[in-house]
Amino acid sequence: MSLKDRLKSFFRGSSDLLKIDDLADEFFNILLESDVSLETTEYILNEFRKMGAEKKRIRREDAIGMLKVILKKILDNAKTDFNILGQTKKPFIILFIGINGTGKTTTVAKVSNYLLNHGKTVALGASDTFRAGAIEQLKIHGENLGVRVIYQGMGSDPSAVAFDTIEHARARNLDYAIIDTAGRMQTNRNLMEEMKKIKRISKPDLTILTVDALAANDAIEQAATFKKEIGFDGLIVNKLDTDARGGSIFSIAHQFRKPIYFLGTGQNLDDLVPYDPDFIINKIFS
Ligand code: GDP
Repeated sequence: MSLKDRLKSFFRGSSDLLKIDDLADEFFNILLESDVSLETTEYILNEFRKMGAEKKRIRREDAIGMLKVILKKILDNAKTDFNILGQTKKPFIILFIGINGTGKTTTVAKVSNYLLNHGKTVALGASDTFRAGAIEQLKIHGENLGVRVIYQGMGSDPSAVAFDTIEHARARNLDYAIIDTAGRMQTNRNLMEEMKKIKRISKPDLTILTVDALAANDAIEQAATFKKEIGFDGLIVNKLDTDARGGSIFSIAHQFRKPIYFLGTGQNLDDLVPYDPDFIINKIFS
């Protein structure tokens, strides 16, 4: 059941004035069952109790109103003024990092598509040289988008590919150089060393971590490693379309403490929407 449906059935409960603590207990279950992490759930309920401290007893509809304000504030904190389209440095270098399966390569293509749709020019670098499939996947995206993909053979030096991509973009005066990287498990020491080297050599203007909404709790742990070892500026959260429970975006916004630029909402190139808290809140509370 989705967070939206759970809140609907909460609303259908008794219409009496109810104790804040009892309502908080009901919310506790609803939030956890909707995939909000324990840490974020506890934060939300703490805010809820603070907000209701002077009231003691309230109606369900007021409790939902309070919850909506708290959830909106969490999402608002992950908003940013940064505008990916408003960059004048050429090429503006974007490095994508994240573990395999989080939709990294697809997101590289979606972001390229977004930039192209806004009249920008792009070159792509296939720096996931660990998997032949990844190079192939990016090449296909490049063909579909009509964008040049810089690549070498499997097993080649990913930093060299990144360097070549930036040089290519510079020589052709392109607006963006976007680099896809490998994402085998974050515990793999070599990967972190490889990523550090790519970052050192490519000197990205923006480093984006891709996160899978379906694996939010794992993602939060993985992000800590990436944050410590490599550093990143913000996130793109993918697979919102398959997230039937709908609560993980709140843990991601609350616990990452980083801006979210876009949401991935499907497998197609157009399935990328700029991060918008109102859009998420309205879907849950409509
Ligand atoms: P990578 O290993 O991180 O580069 O991930 P891929 O880009 O290869 O994506 C892994 C799978 O997730 C592919 O089947 C993608 O089509 C799919 N995927 C990526 N983003 C989304 C999304 O927003 N929604 C859905 N439903 N699938 C996605």
